[in-house]
Amino acid sequence: MAKISGTVEFRTEYCKGCELCIEVCPQDCLAMSNDLNRRGYHYALLTSDTCTGCVNCALVCPDAVITVYRQPKSAAAPGPKVATLAEVEE
Ligand code: SF4
Ligand code: SF4
Repeated sequence: MAKISGTVEFRTEYCKGCELCIEVCPQDCLAMSNDLNRRGYHYALLTSDTCTGCVNCALVCPDAVITVYRQPKSAAAPGPKVATLAEVEE
């Protein structure tokens, strides 16, 4: 079975800095920013390339901030989106 790597994107302006995603990441590859978003919150960031695309972070995020992508480790381009939670209105 091919090894899978992942990456995540954040809708940073919707992050409220709850840090739930950081607590559930088994790869320890998320952290909070030093900067603030427009709502005045520190926001989550991807800090290393060790993401496996496990989707834990996207599932736990209460505000659907995170989108996860997976690809085989040898692939050059990102694979299909595997987790997008519903858009939320402020
Ligand atoms: S998909 Fe999994 S490994 Fe990647 S950042 Fe989210 S919780 Fe961490
Ligand atoms: S779980 Fe969502 S709202 Fe909470 S810090 Fe992570 S990205 Fe931001």
